[in-house]
Amino acid sequence: MSKIPKSAPSTRGLETNSRSAISLQLPTIGLGSVTNVTRTIIWGGRKWNFSGMSSDPSGNGKIGYSINGSLKRFESVYGGSAQYNDPTVAERTMIANVMSGISEFLPIEFEYKADFNDSIIDVNLANSLFWSYQGFSPNVVGIGLPPGEYSDWTYDPVNPVKTSIYSDGCLYMNTNYAHAGHTNPGSWYYSVLLHEIGHAMGLAHPFDNGGVSTIMPGTSGRPAYPGKYRQNDFIYTVMTYRLDESVYGSGGITSYGYNENYGTIDVAALQWLYGRADSSGNKTFELNPVSTRTWKALYDSSGNNTIDASGSSVAVIIDTRRANLSAKSTKAGGYVSTRRSNLKAGFLLSNPTYIKNIVGSNYNDLINSGWYTNTIDTGAGNNTVNAFPNTTVTCGSGSNTVNVHGFNVDISSATFANVHKRKRAYKAIIVNRINKTVSLRRRRTGAVVGTFRNISSIKFKRRRKTTMARLYRIMRRRRRTVMNVKRFV
Ligand SMILES: [Zn+2]
Repeated sequence: MSKIPKSAPSTRGLETNSRSAISLQLPTIGLGSVTNVTRTIIWGGRKWNFSGMSSDPSGNGKIGYSINGSLKRFESVYGGSAQYNDPTVAERTMIANVMSGISEFLPIEFEYKADFNDSIIDVNLANSLFWSYQGFSPNVVGIGLPPGEYSDWTYDPVNPVKTSIYSDGCLYMNTNYAHAGHTNPGSWYYSVLLHEIGHAMGLAHPFDNGGVSTIMPGTSGRPAYPGKYRQNDFIYTVMTYRLDESVYGSGGITSYGYNENYGTIDVAALQWLYGRADSSGNKTFELNPVSTRTWKALYDSSGNNTIDASGSSVAVIIDTRRANLSAKSTKAGGYVSTRRSNLKAGFLLSNPTYIKNIVGSNYNDLINSGWYTNTIDTGAGNNTVNAFPNTTVTCGSGSNTVNVHGFNVDISSATFANVHKRKRAYKAIIVNRINKTVSLRRRRTGAVVGTFRNISSIKFKRRRKTTMARLYRIMRRRRRTVMNVKRFV
């Protein structure tokens, strides 16, 4: 961690300002049913009531957001000077990009509103006057006010009026930290904007108990600690201060290296509050960590989706196991698909997300398929594949290793239960030494139930490795191509 805090401990010090929240728009649903890791970042269960879009004065089904709305409105009250910078075109685009990124996983669309009173979320580009007038340290990068906190709505169900800059839904970005490239998705400043809008949507820090959120184990009072289960990192939640998977650290003056959208734990928490976006249709997510250089949680809970690294210029790790969200797991936030070494960037899979197909790069990849992946095409290179059941693996021209986790790779799911219970049903292998193909056959019917092409070795989980050379030796000795492989499985 740099000495520069990523953002203020949200609104701490203002908590004695106990104006009563207007509850009309803020159903309090509590955290009673939440037992997984998202409990550490859900502020208190309060959310904006977007159902029916009743909060949208224009009635067009979109939620309003404004820029500099509260600082303009209360300019004469708080200091009397312009405490904001007018947004550049790029800054407007940056804010719109964050909003459209939210719409990728929540059933909510946002729309810019010139009138502050038509907005729910208000993004203020606050300059040094604001931070000094308001008594903040100049090192604070941003603050954000969750729904129902410090609300100064004047109660009027038809036309609520905000009466203070400390209204909920308002957030402030310190323009002293804006730098060249700061508007790029995945820049450090951009990831801080994600963090503050996260507060404004109802999220808390994982390492403290804002609202009624719980504290991530092992992080109490120490935001830079990874936590007992190493869940406290920005690739899982932008609500952390910890930036372990970026090579740049806090305050990085770069246009990349950080989150271009919310993390896996954030997605789960916000979906618990607001529901899930429609994700019908088939999508291909291109993994090229050299050209993209940002982190992102994928969300797509339906369709025939693909992670494709064929355009990558470096070897990659592809892992299609999704975040398990367990409160006590180092994989609560999921698994990374990224470059195999050096500069890191890439994907994690939020839960539920389905990736059915994997296409590797032409370099030496490591591919771990999840339970929902059905096809793996390694591409060229010397690849290592960990294949789960119901997967067809096609290897390229290199020397490839396939580890089979389960006994029915490349068979229909209809027979999986049977295989799982009766492993002896699959005890035959055919070796074709010409094209290096190994096939599993069903003992009783002779049906091919698994095929691995162009592999150099195959290993069944918890069994000893069987090399192609060993298979060839046995094959020659027996002078036949079908053999009992009981010894291997
Ligand atoms: Zn914060």
